[in-house]
Amino acid sequence: DKFRDGLSKTRESFVGAMNELMMDYRTVDEEFFEELEDILIASDVGVNTVMELVDELREEALRQNIKKSVDLQPLISEKLSELLVRDEQETKLNMQEDSLTVILFVGVNGVGKTTTIGKMAQKFKNEGRRVMLAAGDTFRAGAIEQLEVWGERAGVEVVKQQAGSDPAAVMYDAIQSAKSRKADVLLCDTAGRLQNKVNLMKELEKVKRVLTREIPEAPHEVLLVLDATTGQNAMTQAKMFGEATDVSGIVLTKLDGTAKGGIVLAIRNELDIPVKFVGLGEKVEDLHEFDPDQYVHGLFA
Ligand code: GDP
Repeated sequence: DKFRDGLSKTRESFVGAMNELMMDYRTVDEEFFEELEDILIASDVGVNTVMELVDELREEALRQNIKKSVDLQPLISEKLSELLVRDEQETKLNMQEDSLTVILFVGVNGVGKTTTIGKMAQKFKNEGRRVMLAAGDTFRAGAIEQLEVWGERAGVEVVKQQAGSDPAAVMYDAIQSAKSRKADVLLCDTAGRLQNKVNLMKELEKVKRVLTREIPEAPHEVLLVLDATTGQNAMTQAKMFGEATDVSGIVLTKLDGTAKGGIVLAIRNELDIPVKFVGLGEKVEDLHEFDPDQYVHGLFA
């Protein structure tokens, strides 16, 4: 299926290496565990997560008296799933069924924020919801127009002002319009310039304050968009945004473009923020709700 196809690069390298390690009926010894560690680290799983995982496997192998690599394989899949799922509900979006849901998207330029908003607009529209977009990136040249293209494609209205205008004013307009048109979902774009981090974080705070003033629970989600192909940079960005604002979930884009899909595990385990969606391509249908079991099966089945 599509999910499996999107993970093909990761499957070939990460899983290819894992399978090789398992295949030859190797003895489960210290050398084996070291090789396993190397493979996981090379796939961006994250050193702390790898250590934790491999320690648990060592103990479990000892306890269950597992001597051959093939017998360890199911245990590895099981541990990977466990690392990804804390609570079944945590990967679900906090949608308001009878009132406006406001979702704020944050992330640095180029990670796929606009594309993700466009894909999500289409997804909600297909579910029969009334969707509106807010063009809150008034800084990057072309950002407003790019959002409008997605808006047109999905047939949803975009609330915008001129380039360079105050993003907080755009948000105020957008939430008023969304209320008066009885929209179900408002998807808010924000700037992602990194030249001046302090200013950007202040801007995001201001945008959030405007939304909260209009609807106390808003934004109902703050989704941080990260590019899976950037590895440790994505982790650094997550820490930076996480310190500045309450991030409620992560959208991990371009998972199709990396052979190091292990980053999903590093993000979940080392940042303690759930991955809620993954991008597996540029097209509108390539945004998927993240299902940890499906991810692990997509890799190993
Ligand atoms: P923004 O600056 O964060 O708004 O980034 P854009 O939405 O403009 O996306 C940057 C580039 O990444 C575009 O060429 C998108 O088509 C591409 N892109 C976004 N999401 C994905 C994805 O999941 N997979 C792939 N392969 N490309 C993506």
